[in-house]
Amino acid sequence: MRLSHSLLPTLKETPAEAQIASHRLMLRAGLVRQTAAGIYAWLPAGLRVLRRIEAIVREEQDAAGAQEVLMPTIQSADLWRQSGRYDAYGPEMLRLKDRHERDLLYGPTNEEMITDLMRQSVKSYRELPQILYHIQWKFRDEVRPRFGVMRGREFLMKDAYSFDLDRAGAVVSYRKMMLAYMRTFQRLGVQAIPMVADTGPIGGDLSHEFIILAPTGESQVYYDAAFETIDYSSDNFSIMSEPDLERFWTQMTTHYAATDDKHDAEAWQHVAEKREGRGIEVGHIFYFGTKYSKAMGLAVAGRDGVSVAPEMGSYGVGVSRLVGALIEAHHDEAGIIWPDSVAPFPAVILNLKVGDAACDAMCEDLYARFNGDALYDDRGERAGAKFADADLMGHPWQIVVGPRGAAAGKVELKRRATGEKVECSVDDAMAKVRG
Ligand code: ATP
Ligand code: MG
Repeated sequence: MRLSHSLLPTLKETPAEAQIASHRLMLRAGLVRQTAAGIYAWLPAGLRVLRRIEAIVREEQDAAGAQEVLMPTIQSADLWRQSGRYDAYGPEMLRLKDRHERDLLYGPTNEEMITDLMRQSVKSYRELPQILYHIQWKFRDEVRPRFGVMRGREFLMKDAYSFDLDRAGAVVSYRKMMLAYMRTFQRLGVQAIPMVADTGPIGGDLSHEFIILAPTGESQVYYDAAFETIDYSSDNFSIMSEPDLERFWTQMTTHYAATDDKHDAEAWQHVAEKREGRGIEVGHIFYFGTKYSKAMGLAVAGRDGVSVAPEMGSYGVGVSRLVGALIEAHHDEAGIIWPDSVAPFPAVILNLKVGDAACDAMCEDLYARFNGDALYDDRGERAGAKFADADLMGHPWQIVVGPRGAAAGKVELKRRATGEKVECSVDDAMAKVRG
């Protein structure tokens, strides 16, 4: 993208309403704009990050054998009356009426709808197990929307639902999803710790929250340093192998990890290498048995012909919250430091003298080599302003083109994360950025 003709409105001043770094930086770097309390428009650079996170989440769900669907945001109240949650959910649910006075709602989650879809079509034990997911906007009328996209009212969630014949099968699905989550966070460039959680309004008897470490996180966390060195990639665990899932589960559950409210001073004493920090919840998974299948009449014919209510689980990742959480984990005083895996652009090309024939030619050549998948700062701004905006926006690489270098066929390449700079040819710069 050419910055001169893009909606990437950077701000020099710190917006008064933003209390935490990620919120400030998302506004200052021109990623989002608030359109109503807790509701945000995603501008081009912000949307690119959101899409890249979504793509990694999707790839890992697919690799775990989950099937992607897309359910609507608007749901019928009748479905929620069947599960008993229409009244139970309370004021967080945004309720609507259509012109025929029918009760609708903007979905805060999708257990009822997916159970209904399965109920319409799945009839036999032979069709299970199945895991379905979608990546869709949710609405929860939070009492106090705050911290920008971290606690919005409208937010993007990946929610998956598993259906198994029995508890043993459901446990396998649960472990698969848990491994898919650890892998997703590893690829996103953040350290995530799974912690035993309360099952809350979803109900059920097994639940984990995924907390990513960031100095400004909402909760205090205590964990065993062993979590920091586990490799969750497919080189270490095959997600389709039950023995691997068992080994993964053992590693997850033998190490200590707890948030403030569940912290156990006695157990903590026995942890060999203690780590403490602040954390942000970015995912939450539940196994809740037959709660929804029984309430809503989802049943399949079992092996012996007797009908069985499938055992279910649900698995959420806060996709839009992750954008903020990643910034909390990766920034400095100058701005965002995007991990390569989610950066809106792999590099920014800084033309320090727009109008200089050699600079313009070299920048156009570079921009063409990226096939447009780089940001080209072609504005007629001072060099200082361009450097400041590049640091603020957090592109992993900055390719700086000035008149002296251009005349000699050289650029200056800067790595945002380390501040390291080298002078090199265009070819060498491209090779480094491409990694
Ligand atoms: P929290 O405890 O933060 O309120 P929750 O327990 O209500 O979250 P879940 O129902 O478990 O949330 O939803 C799954 C994921 O969706 C959460 O782990 C979180 O990452 C994300 N999420 C939930 N509420 C919001 C929100 N208001 N804004 C942005 N993301 C959210
Ligand atoms: Mg939760």
